[in-house]
Amino acid sequence: MYCTTHTVAGAAAGLLAGDPVTGFILGLGTHAVLDALPHHDYSNTATGVLDTLVAAVIVGTIAALGVGGRYGILSGAVGGAVPDLEVVRAHLNPRAYLPPNPSRRLIFPSHSGLIPHGRRWVPWGIVTQAAIVIAGLGFIISRL
Ligand SMILES: [Zn+2]
Repeated sequence: MYCTTHTVAGAAAGLLAGDPVTGFILGLGTHAVLDALPHHDYSNTATGVLDTLVAAVIVGTIAALGVGGRYGILSGAVGGAVPDLEVVRAHLNPRAYLPPNPSRRLIFPSHSGLIPHGRRWVPWGIVTQAAIVIAGLGFIISRL
Protein backbone atom coordinates (compact mmCIF):
# COMPACT_ATOMS: atom_id res chain seq x y z
CA MET A 1 0.00 0.00 0.00
CA TYR A 2 1.18 3.53 -0.71
CA CYS A 3 3.00 5.65 1.87
CA THR A 4 0.41 8.41 1.41
CA THR A 5 -2.43 6.01 2.22
CA HIS A 6 -0.67 4.67 5.33
CA THR A 7 0.25 8.19 6.48
CA VAL A 8 -3.26 9.62 6.16
CA ALA A 9 -4.90 6.57 7.77
CA GLY A 10 -2.37 6.64 10.61
CA ALA A 11 -2.93 10.37 11.15
CA ALA A 12 -6.71 9.87 11.22
CA ALA A 13 -6.38 7.05 13.76
CA GLY A 14 -3.86 9.05 15.77
CA LEU A 15 -6.31 11.91 15.98
CA LEU A 16 -8.50 9.63 18.09
CA ALA A 17 -5.67 9.02 20.57
CA GLY A 18 -5.24 10.91 23.78
CA ASP A 19 -1.46 10.91 23.61
CA PRO A 20 1.36 10.47 21.07
CA VAL A 21 2.30 6.94 22.17
CA THR A 22 -1.25 5.68 21.68
CA GLY A 23 -1.36 7.58 18.40
CA PHE A 24 1.78 5.79 17.20
CA ILE A 25 0.39 2.39 18.19
CA LEU A 26 -2.91 3.14 16.44
CA GLY A 27 -0.92 4.18 13.36
CA LEU A 28 0.91 0.83 13.40
CA GLY A 29 -2.45 -0.91 13.67
CA THR A 30 -3.83 0.87 10.62
CA HIS A 31 -0.76 -0.24 8.67
CA ALA A 32 -1.43 -3.90 9.42
CA VAL A 33 -5.15 -3.62 8.63
CA LEU A 34 -4.63 -1.69 5.38
CA ASP A 35 -1.92 -4.07 4.17
CA ALA A 36 -4.41 -6.93 4.55
CA LEU A 37 -6.86 -5.23 2.15
CA PRO A 38 -6.34 -6.02 -1.53
CA HIS A 39 -4.28 -3.12 -2.90
CA HIS A 40 -1.82 -2.05 -5.56
CA ASP A 41 1.88 -1.69 -4.72
CA TYR A 42 4.38 0.00 -7.01
CA SER A 43 7.85 -1.42 -7.40
CA ASN A 44 9.92 1.38 -8.86
CA THR A 45 12.01 3.84 -6.91
CA ALA A 46 10.78 7.01 -8.65
CA THR A 47 7.15 6.31 -7.75
CA GLY A 48 8.20 5.53 -4.19
CA VAL A 49 10.06 8.83 -3.88
CA LEU A 50 7.08 10.75 -5.29
CA ASP A 51 4.67 8.95 -2.95
CA THR A 52 6.90 9.66 0.05
CA LEU A 53 7.09 13.34 -0.92
CA VAL A 54 3.29 13.54 -1.08
CA ALA A 55 3.07 11.94 2.36
CA ALA A 56 5.70 14.37 3.70
CA VAL A 57 3.73 17.34 2.35
CA ILE A 58 0.61 16.05 4.12
CA VAL A 59 2.49 15.63 7.41
CA GLY A 60 4.12 19.05 6.95
CA THR A 61 0.72 20.63 6.33
CA ILE A 62 -0.67 19.03 9.47
CA ALA A 63 2.28 20.37 11.45
CA ALA A 64 2.04 23.83 9.84
CA LEU A 65 -1.63 24.05 10.73
CA GLY A 66 -0.60 23.60 14.33
CA VAL A 67 -2.60 20.47 14.90
CA GLY A 68 0.46 18.29 15.35
CA GLY A 69 0.40 18.84 19.07
CA ARG A 70 -3.19 17.68 19.32
CA TYR A 71 -3.53 14.14 20.49
CA GLY A 72 -1.48 11.74 18.42
CA ILE A 73 -2.06 12.91 14.87
CA LEU A 74 1.60 13.29 13.90
CA SER A 75 2.73 10.20 15.79
CA GLY A 76 -0.16 8.31 14.18
CA ALA A 77 1.01 9.43 10.74
CA VAL A 78 4.54 8.25 11.53
CA GLY A 79 3.27 4.97 13.00
CA GLY A 80 1.20 4.41 9.89
CA ALA A 81 4.13 4.89 7.52
CA VAL A 82 7.22 3.68 9.38
CA PRO A 83 6.74 -0.11 8.93
CA ASP A 84 7.37 0.29 5.21
CA LEU A 85 10.93 1.47 5.88
CA GLU A 86 11.91 -2.19 5.97
CA VAL A 87 10.28 -2.66 2.56
CA VAL A 88 12.29 0.28 1.20
CA ARG A 89 15.45 -1.23 2.69
CA ALA A 90 14.69 -4.58 1.05
CA HIS A 91 13.98 -2.84 -2.28
CA LEU A 92 17.35 -1.08 -2.13
CA ASN A 93 19.26 -4.26 -1.18
CA PRO A 94 17.23 -7.23 -2.46
CA ARG A 95 20.09 -9.75 -2.34
CA ALA A 96 20.19 -9.59 1.47
CA TYR A 97 16.61 -10.86 1.61
CA LEU A 98 16.82 -13.69 -0.90
CA PRO A 99 17.20 -17.42 -0.16
CA PRO A 100 19.01 -19.64 0.42
CA ASN A 101 20.64 -17.79 3.32
CA PRO A 102 19.07 -14.37 3.73
CA SER A 103 20.86 -12.20 6.25
CA ARG A 104 17.72 -10.17 6.78
CA ARG A 105 14.01 -10.78 6.78
CA LEU A 106 10.97 -8.57 6.95
CA ILE A 107 9.56 -8.42 10.48
CA PHE A 108 6.32 -6.39 10.39
CA PRO A 109 3.45 -8.94 10.49
CA SER A 110 1.89 -7.81 7.19
CA HIS A 111 5.30 -8.02 5.47
CA SER A 112 6.60 -11.24 7.01
CA GLY A 113 3.54 -13.26 5.96
CA LEU A 114 2.05 -13.54 9.46
CA ILE A 115 -0.87 -11.37 8.27
CA PRO A 116 -1.82 -12.01 4.63
CA HIS A 117 -0.83 -9.15 2.32
CA GLY A 118 -3.67 -8.41 -0.10
CA ARG A 119 -2.94 -7.76 -3.78
CA ARG A 120 -5.07 -6.03 -6.35
CA TRP A 121 -3.96 -4.32 -9.51
CA VAL A 122 -5.20 -1.24 -11.30
CA PRO A 123 -7.66 0.31 -11.27
CA TRP A 124 -9.27 -1.01 -8.05
CA GLY A 125 -6.04 -1.35 -6.14
CA ILE A 126 -5.52 2.37 -6.65
CA VAL A 127 -9.16 3.49 -6.38
CA THR A 128 -9.53 1.89 -2.95
CA GLN A 129 -6.44 3.73 -1.73
CA ALA A 130 -7.69 7.04 -3.12
CA ALA A 131 -10.98 6.46 -1.28
CA ILE A 132 -9.09 5.74 1.95
CA VAL A 133 -7.01 8.92 1.56
CA ILE A 134 -10.09 11.06 0.83
CA ALA A 135 -12.02 9.55 3.75
CA GLY A 136 -9.02 9.97 6.09
CA LEU A 137 -8.44 13.60 5.08
CA GLY A 138 -12.17 14.28 5.39
CA PHE A 139 -12.19 12.82 8.89
CA ILE A 140 -9.14 14.86 9.91
CA ILE A 141 -10.56 18.10 8.49
CA SER A 142 -13.90 17.48 10.20
CA ARG A 143 -12.12 17.19 13.55
CA LEU A 144 -10.02 20.38 13.26
ZN1 LIG B 1 3.39 -2.34 4.59
